[in-house]
Amino acid sequence: MTARALHQLTAGQAAAMLKGWELSAEELTSALLARIAAVEPVVGAYLRTTAELALSQARKVDESRRAGADLPVLAGIPCALKDNLSTSGVPTTCCSRILAGYVPPYDATAWSRLKSAGAVLCGKTNMDEFAMGSSCENSAFKRTRNPWDTRLVPGGSSGGSAAAVAAGEALYALGSDTGGSVRQPAAFCGVVGLKPTYGLVSRYGLVAFGSSLDQIGPLTRDVTDCAHVMDAIAGHDSLDATSLPGQAGGYASGLAGGVKGLRIGVPREYFAEGVQPGVEAAVKRAIGVLVEQGAVAEECSLPHTGYALDVYYVIAPAEASANLARFDGVRYGLRLAAGDHEGMYRATRQTGFGPEVKRRIMIGTYVLSAGYYDAYYLRAQKVRTLVAREFAEAFARFDVLACPTTPTTAFPVGDKAGDPLAMYLSDVCTVPVNLAGVPALSVPCGLAGGLPVGLQLIGPALSERTLLRAAYTYEQASGGPLSLPEEVKAP
Ligand code: GLN
Repeated sequence: MTARALHQLTAGQAAAMLKGWELSAEELTSALLARIAAVEPVVGAYLRTTAELALSQARKVDESRRAGADLPVLAGIPCALKDNLSTSGVPTTCCSRILAGYVPPYDATAWSRLKSAGAVLCGKTNMDEFAMGSSCENSAFKRTRNPWDTRLVPGGSSGGSAAAVAAGEALYALGSDTGGSVRQPAAFCGVVGLKPTYGLVSRYGLVAFGSSLDQIGPLTRDVTDCAHVMDAIAGHDSLDATSLPGQAGGYASGLAGGVKGLRIGVPREYFAEGVQPGVEAAVKRAIGVLVEQGAVAEECSLPHTGYALDVYYVIAPAEASANLARFDGVRYGLRLAAGDHEGMYRATRQTGFGPEVKRRIMIGTYVLSAGYYDAYYLRAQKVRTLVAREFAEAFARFDVLACPTTPTTAFPVGDKAGDPLAMYLSDVCTVPVNLAGVPALSVPCGLAGGLPVGLQLIGPALSERTLLRAAYTYEQASGGPLSLPEEVKAP
């Protein structure tokens, strides 16, 4: 296999070659670093690459394999991490000026688990500042472009992670999903993305945005890789108070069971106004493929869906305003001296935060303030309960719900950047899932107008095995994972 093609492998394929000595981790890593050098000037997926670290991690894997160690699947596989995941010794900025120069003294649990499985880190990926956004245009540092068409956004906020995987600049990546930030960019870039059940993957070391909504999730080229990454990162962690007890795992080993008798609900509200006809057609075709494989699909209704976006944009900013209070110029990153203490806070926060982050802090502070708490925050929490209950009722009848991940395919750079409400609307199919704390997966289901479409499969808490099995069945029955663009052309 030529060096040029190594970046096209899935993690699973690369792992088999490493195991069979057809390839060393160092060769694989060098091929990925060469691919990064070739396409990164156009794609801009990485905020920072860690080539030396990657090569030294790869060599270590080769050494232990040579010494006869039986290594985990992901050993020696090059990956990328969103820049809100703490990496000891490697700067972690959330793409915000306020964290410029901050180097965490510890690793996020998800990363330390990958590391002990022998992961190779190629770098930290671009994102919307503090994960607030749907296009990567809110990054304080750079723009990332969609490898399918570089005039388009990669989605967000984990757009750098999705673009890196789609462009062959990493074999898999981690992102975070508070309202859709793993699934939406996965859909836009034609890769697989999973938002796990709240509490299944430790949030320790993930810089907090909306603490009751945040989950770390994988972005991968195919469903099998998604299961491998979940096998490595899921499971209880005493360092995260919201981490679920009990055993996780068995994701990759459970992929092959098929979907005979699987009850699929198709919520009509997710196919409402604003959904592009090409997206609707691709998603319905994909549901048809699952039915051919033995699943039973039936239309259903989730009438509170329309309130979810409003509820999210009260609760997420409320939590963000509290979480971001810690960035005061004293403890992390940027500090601008300006007279007294208060002057220092003001100057640091005014300069350090970008406009979208400030908007969220203001909304959040407002909905939590004494006079408005009952009218906004408390009411939003009540409606959140209704949304969660509605999902629970649906899951009494259905094993999974199937719908589009996003109402449209990727949109042009600059299209929504000046219109926050239009940007918020691109999360309409993903935010209800975070409010309910349940898992959902986006798997590519073909193209509309030459651009990837995501099929979203939503399940009850801890149904990841079912979601992955259904997605895998679809992927196999539809001719295998989507082929990613080989040529990445400048806009
Ligand atoms: N786009 C949504 C927001 O801006 C979701 C972000 C996320 O999931 N991190 O809040």
